[in-house]
Amino acid sequence: MSQFDVAIAGAGLTGLSLTAALLDSGLSIALIDPRAPTRRSFGLTPERDGTELASTVPPRVSAINQRSMNFLRRIASMPEHAAPYTRMRVWDQLGSAQITFDAADAGVEALGYIVPNDAVSSVLVEALDGAESARFHAHEITSCGRQDQSMRVGFEHGDPLLADLVIGADGGNSAVRQMVGMRPLRRDDGQAALVTTLLLDRSLAATASQCFTEVGPLALLPVSTAHPELASIVWSAPAAEIERLLALAPDEFCQAVTYCIADEVGEVLACDQRFSFPLRRQFTPQFVKPGVVLAGDAAHAIHPLGGQGVNLGFADVEKLVELINAELLAGHAPGDGRWLRDYVFDRAPHNIAVATVMEAFNLLYGQSNPALIFLRNRGMRITDSLPLLKMQIARLASGMF
Ligand SMILES: Cc1cc2nc3c(=O)[nH]c(=O)nc-3n(C[C@H](O)[C@H](O)[C@H](O)COP(=O)(O)OP(=O)(O)OC[C@H]3O[C@@H](n4cnc5c(N)ncnc54)[C@H](O)[C@@H]3O)c2cc1C
Repeated sequence: MSQFDVAIAGAGLTGLSLTAALLDSGLSIALIDPRAPTRRSFGLTPERDGTELASTVPPRVSAINQRSMNFLRRIASMPEHAAPYTRMRVWDQLGSAQITFDAADAGVEALGYIVPNDAVSSVLVEALDGAESARFHAHEITSCGRQDQSMRVGFEHGDPLLADLVIGADGGNSAVRQMVGMRPLRRDDGQAALVTTLLLDRSLAATASQCFTEVGPLALLPVSTAHPELASIVWSAPAAEIERLLALAPDEFCQAVTYCIADEVGEVLACDQRFSFPLRRQFTPQFVKPGVVLAGDAAHAIHPLGGQGVNLGFADVEKLVELINAELLAGHAPGDGRWLRDYVFDRAPHNIAVATVMEAFNLLYGQSNPALIFLRNRGMRITDSLPLLKMQIARLASGMF
């Protein structure tokens, strides 16, 4: 049976970045995922036919904050098509207040970057190219448990392997989490997210916008520096509402979005194919055990309204790598020890705080009570008039705190 120092379950953005960040540690690593991650190069060449758009922008796009981008540059390189945004604007469709945040307020070049997820995984796959210490296993993990001093990881087909440490980075439905008996706390209120790309009648001017619409938060992300009038959107709402939006004809959908954003952002001229995803929100209180830790969505999946999910995953990875390297320097194997507790103490408060803030915003802006609408608009106006508070929020959003 093959023996590794570390087995990483899942080659999503968390698992890939963890593998790349551990390459210099001298550890032998097994990266396991049934789907082999690939390098993709794509041009952004939008073509419009009436209200239909063929944008070539992949449907899954992420807001990567400045801190995460610095991390990606250290372990790999700047992803292709990373479009910086220097401004954020938030407003309430049922009110007249809005808040804006500028990169200059936070003392950073950009608050973050809008990047297709495929472009991020491509640079990570490139960083792993030819690495001798990491081996990819194209398997689905079907069992995971203790065997003497090691963890035994089993597959439906193929020989099992042994590892000192298993890191579950296998997403919101984590099989590792379930197999080792870690139970997540879930909030499922039937929400879903619609994603697509829009062509607007004007430039987004490197501004990421968030409109709290009557049905749920709508994010408009400037996805291309070369085509500043393209917006990648994430619209979260109850699943039935998302079904309704998916069923609209392209011209009707363009009108529905224009209705929400016309005054602040402009008119929607055309829309690309629409996709939807169920929204999973969960947190696993116990995310370490001797020989096993969870990272990324396997440990916590949050509402996408603040665009923080994968940024939390990258922050988990940074901390894990720091603690594992310190353990190695002290001459210990990474499978067990005090560092597991340090990982929990460092990451749990932060991950819980971000998830709670996202839930609170979603709840507050999901209310149609006139008194609450008045109060939240007043709160927005007050916040917008306090430069020091805005600077702190801008620093939090960019991850530079
Ligand atoms: C609509 C939407 C918009 C979002 N926008 C943003 C944003 O703007 N900014 C942001 O920071 N975050 C955003 N997020 C969140 C972000 O996408 C996730 O946090 C991130 O992709 C999670 O990455 P992960 O690698 O932890 O998990 P995943 O991407 O789920 O990867 C898990 C991997 O594990 C593999 N796997 C699963 N089961 C097994 C098994 N049994 N054995 C082996 N491998 C297995 C899977 O094949 C997969 O490759 C958004 C999420 C949604 C839904």
